[in-house]
Amino acid sequence: MSIEITPYAIIFFVTALFAAVVTGMLWRHRSTPGSEPLTWMMVFVCWWNLAAGLEAATVEQSYKILWSQIEYIGSSGSLVLLVFFVLEYTQPEKRLSLLQRALLLVLPAVNVLLAATNDWHRLVWPGFEAGPVGSNLIVYQHGPGFYLVMLVVYGYLAIAIIRLIRTARHASLLHRRQIGILLWGMVAPLAASILYAFDLNLLPGMDIVPLSFLMTGAFLMAGILLYRLFDLAPVARERLVENMADGLLVLDGRGRLLEYNPAVRRMLGLGQDGLGKDAELLFARWPELMALCESEQDTQSEIVVESEPPCYLEMHNSILWDPQGRLTGRLILVRDVTRRRNTEIALQRANERLQAQLFEIRVLQAQLQEQAIRDPLTGLFNRRYLEETLPREIARAGRQSYPIVVVMIDIDLFKRVNDTFGHEGGDHYLKAFGSLLMSRVRREDIACRYGGEEFLLVFPGLPRECIVGRLAQIREMIESLRVPYQGSEISATASGGIAIFPDHGGSSEEVIRSADLALYAAKAAGRNRMLLFGDSGAN
Ligand code: GH3
Ligand code: MG
Ligand code: MG
Repeated sequence: MSIEITPYAIIFFVTALFAAVVTGMLWRHRSTPGSEPLTWMMVFVCWWNLAAGLEAATVEQSYKILWSQIEYIGSSGSLVLLVFFVLEYTQPEKRLSLLQRALLLVLPAVNVLLAATNDWHRLVWPGFEAGPVGSNLIVYQHGPGFYLVMLVVYGYLAIAIIRLIRTARHASLLHRRQIGILLWGMVAPLAASILYAFDLNLLPGMDIVPLSFLMTGAFLMAGILLYRLFDLAPVARERLVENMADGLLVLDGRGRLLEYNPAVRRMLGLGQDGLGKDAELLFARWPELMALCESEQDTQSEIVVESEPPCYLEMHNSILWDPQGRLTGRLILVRDVTRRRNTEIALQRANERLQAQLFEIRVLQAQLQEQAIRDPLTGLFNRRYLEETLPREIARAGRQSYPIVVVMIDIDLFKRVNDTFGHEGGDHYLKAFGSLLMSRVRREDIACRYGGEEFLLVFPGLPRECIVGRLAQIREMIESLRVPYQGSEISATASGGIAIFPDHGGSSEEVIRSADLALYAAKAAGRNRMLLFGDSGAN
């Protein structure tokens, strides 16, 4: 076999070398879907160009034809692997089965056989002619077998191209760019094979199809370097939806179920046969979900699935509008928020318990405060309260220049009451006495149990001219008080000493002492009377 290295042969050899380089680059990404068939495709492209180079370089015609037949293995292999690649790349979740691969191999294998057995039937090339002088090429005539071979080539390329375009329509931006690169990479072989089939070669006898794969390789390299083809393997959208933890419902404009994923089937307990059914029928149990299905706005709501334990689902409704602004359907995303909801409920319950406890504490606190300033027997204020309050009242009255009348009252001969009715009878009377005093004072006055059967009344701002009348009235009411006790009645009188701030003292102690002195005088004067400090001569 003699060899002549022509420029044509060199072009093929260079292309083979380039194909080998791309093969090496692809090999590094062989774990991503589709890259393995693509790697092998480039191996066959390399083979094809090597064989084409050897055909171009060989001088004897018989050898040229042998190399051309070997080329058929390269071209058919490249074609089959291109289709393998596109199928795997566009449907990464479905790996081709051995049977599918074998079936896809049949027609290209027939091509190889047709070429190998051409000497017998001459269907592919009935004959050939010498190429341009000095080119060391031969030009094959095309028989019916050749067009059959080309039909298979176009058919396979068409499958690959249509598949890529269909995938691109629903793909993400990055994925679409990757597909764009692949499609551009296929333009050159497609154009070259059309040119070759119709004898529109630039150089008669020079088959540029194997060379056109130089372009495919270039695009693949650009894709790998620029768009990280195979680094970022696309994930099919169906697989995303199927494996989503969130539920997905898609309804058409008339409320029929178009799509629902396993997650939502699990959450709502729906069967496999829901597709095409009316939402009304499927979701009748959940009025909130029904309302969402009828809403014309992007809304959100929550439903409770009465399972054991109950399950809380949060739903987001997105309306799908067509370009004319008509409602074409809706997409409802369903998220299981049970854990969050349970935590919220537990928190709310704890909060309610705390609030109740706080309320109880407040009530107890108020009761305690009240108890601290009240006399338990009569319900009147106690001496402690008075000692806290009176100095404040006096200070204010001093600032605002109004008088405060202080009256010290002591029940007359109370020892006798005790002696007659017992201590309990005495207490009973004291209670009624306290109620009487309480009913005789205004809100701003203070009625207080000062000691055993001694009481102190404070009237801030009571005009001096009203004092005598007011206290005479109280004394009379005491005198006429009849307290039923064990079948008889307890009655008594009381004496009172009256002192006025600021007339009879400038401080609470002084005024109280003056009132006490007046009381003493009232007792001395024969009891059952109210005396103003000074009137009795007491001092
Ligand atoms: P006078 O007219 O001088 O006031 O005569 P009196 O008997 O009331 O004498 P005094 O005020 O000194 O005595 C008070 C008596 O009141 C002494 C005590 O037995 C009785 N007493 C004091 N506190 C209570 C009480 O809480 N309950 C009862 N039942 N009796 C009390
Ligand atoms: Mg007393
Ligand atoms: Mg007394």
